[in-house]
Amino acid sequence: MSILPTDIIYLDNNGTTAVDPLVVEEMLPYLTDFYGNPSSAYSFGRQIKEAIEVAREKIADLLGASPTEIIFTSCGTESNNAAIASALAIDPDRQHIVTSAVEHSAIIKHGEALARRGVEITWLPVDAQGQIDLADLENAVREDTALVSLMWANNETGVLFPIEKAAEISRAKGALFHSDAVQAIGKIPIDLAHSKINFLSLSGHKLHCPKGIGVLYANRKSRFNSYLYGGAQENGKRAGTENVPYIVGLGKAAEIAAKAIEEETGNVKDLRDHFENTLLASLDGLEVNGDRIERLPNTSNISISGVESEALLIMLDHEGICCSGGSACTTGSLHPSHVLMAMGYSTDRARSSVRFSFSRYNTRAEVERALPKIVAAVKKLRA
Ligand code: PLP
Repeated sequence: MSILPTDIIYLDNNGTTAVDPLVVEEMLPYLTDFYGNPSSAYSFGRQIKEAIEVAREKIADLLGASPTEIIFTSCGTESNNAAIASALAIDPDRQHIVTSAVEHSAIIKHGEALARRGVEITWLPVDAQGQIDLADLENAVREDTALVSLMWANNETGVLFPIEKAAEISRAKGALFHSDAVQAIGKIPIDLAHSKINFLSLSGHKLHCPKGIGVLYANRKSRFNSYLYGGAQENGKRAGTENVPYIVGLGKAAEIAAKAIEEETGNVKDLRDHFENTLLASLDGLEVNGDRIERLPNTSNISISGVESEALLIMLDHEGICCSGGSACTTGSLHPSHVLMAMGYSTDRARSSVRFSFSRYNTRAEVERALPKIVAAVKKLRA
């Protein structure tokens, strides 16, 4: 099934995802008729509050958590920032953070800002497969470590960190543990019921919900200090009038994701593998970036020797194919991906890397249409 309004072939599902029409349908009444404030005492407000609680339960179900552990936020970035800020606020004697060199900018930039204010940050390295070494983690956690924050799945390569084990090591050494699971939720099964994870972030728009809604899971036994001051919403853990339509939408998206995980690890993985294997067989000088086994089922990050990814992206854009490159444009110049550079790749390899990421809305027919166009574009650029 394709829900795309035009002829584009959308292979950038780690960037964002198409909104599921069932999610829109669930949200609409809360954008129109049911506009009451959930904090109001009258029943027009109370029924809105009930809708929030139903959504909270659906998200808790997806995560194997309790509804009281779900805090609605505005996005994955806010959830990540809130977890780190809380850990540092709780104990002034613990002002050390352990994280990795390949996190999303929502962790990296925060870490860099904190470092400028005197917080010590240990950036764990990764190997050429994009993997951390748990022995490095064990050595990095100290008596004054407030928090270890590691992403569950890398947004560029899809590489999965051994999060359950990392949480156990961190907790055994007395530190709190947070995982940025923005790319993992809905793509692989996650069960927090018996885990050692204290905090976890997710984002609606990676889950076929609109942009601008996220969740911070905070284990009920873990202390959490909000950095927002204001009303008592979200049990005093996140001030600000709730974004009701989006919360309701995220609840629906979570309910659908819980059922769709099998499809994600089956059909979507098959599609990704077919795409990747065909591309590798069609062109020389291609290499898959990152661990091909410990990887999200939907992500394929490939370096294409002799090709600048920016040039390829422009050509593919003309063909209606959406994917993303291994470099980011900051203030007019192209910076090679920090993830691929941390994996020890050359600047050339990083600059020649392209990420294709799939979802349940992609079809085999789309992939068959995209493949010859990609092959032709690469050949043209190489010529
Ligand atoms: N963390 C990861 C791994 C991501 O991929 C993203 C978005 O790309 C974020 C955090 C930020 O999420 P949001 O866009 O909801 O702020």
